Amino acid sequence: MELMAKYQALIREILALKKKKHAIILAHNYQRPEIYEVADYVGDSLGLCEAAIASRAKRIIFCGVKFMAESAKILNPAKDVYLPALDAGCALADSINIETLRELKRKYPKAATVCYINSTAEIKAECNTICTSSNAVEVARKLKNKEIIMLPDKNLAKFVALQIRGKKIIPAKGVCPIHHNLGPEAIKRAKQEHPGAKLIVHPECQTNVLELADFIGSTSRMSDYAKKSGAKEFIVVTECGMINKMQEDAPEKKFYTVCSLCYDMKKITLERVRDALKYDQYKIEVEPDVAKKARAAFNKMFELTKLKAQKSKVKAAA
Ligand code: SF4
Repeated sequence: MELMAKYQALIREILALKKKKHAIILAHNYQRPEIYEVADYVGDSLGLCEAAIASRAKRIIFCGVKFMAESAKILNPAKDVYLPALDAGCALADSINIETLRELKRKYPKAATVCYINSTAEIKAECNTICTSSNAVEVARKLKNKEIIMLPDKNLAKFVALQIRGKKIIPAKGVCPIHHNLGPEAIKRAKQEHPGAKLIVHPECQTNVLELADFIGSTSRMSDYAKKSGAKEFIVVTECGMINKMQEDAPEKKFYTVCSLCYDMKKITLERVRDALKYDQYKIEVEPDVAKKARAAFNKMFELTKLKAQKSKVKAAA
């Protein structure tokens, strides 16, 4: 509460600018809690895609990292998309380049290529389809190919491989350092300290961590699970900001976390959001040919998972 009082004037300024500029603000779950206060929608990568598509606003201010803002632009070529901190990157997205992807395609010519949404626009354009941590298993299951190259996250690829039979999942070598470095020892200690708590883990963690989990899912699914579960206490293993969102969604429950901070996600501040609105910065562009191919990969994902943009996701589209 005290924290929000400190930001009241800035929050009012942002809300007024947002209205004036016919903008919406989309924010990833890992954002700072004060960013939630100005956001029209807070969610995971998949929910943010849906919200971007459903929006009628002319401008989208994207509070997340660069690949997310690029995805919003790819899905909304006619809208102006802004990322308040241009240097908010993603170590996982940057862990693979086109040459490595093409080498994998040459080595496995019959394989479908599925890239995690945490990939650059160029990588998305070069793949058959896209997945998120919410739908990776479903996408892999529904593709007809017996061999599937999943990139860049090897932990997510391994998680998918363990869920489906009769298909060869070929991983790349990337990891999200934030999740990959969360080891089982700290989690076992947290379980000892809170023996009644359910353990919720993000699929970008290593298999020896996933094995300990009561629930594995994307950030939005983690929150849904905690809300619907009969349990009262949860240990959440992912980026540190996530428990703020979970606590907000289920204030009557208790959350503990074993986590790491993603400094790129935290580069978005209220001041930067205000400046993004005020000075129209920093506009995200994706080269039209790249955007067209990446959109086709997204459409394939929507077709496989029968997803439709959910209009209700955006509370106050301008
Ligand atoms: S938490 Fe990992 S995957 Fe997510 S933005 Fe940060 S580095 Fe990228």
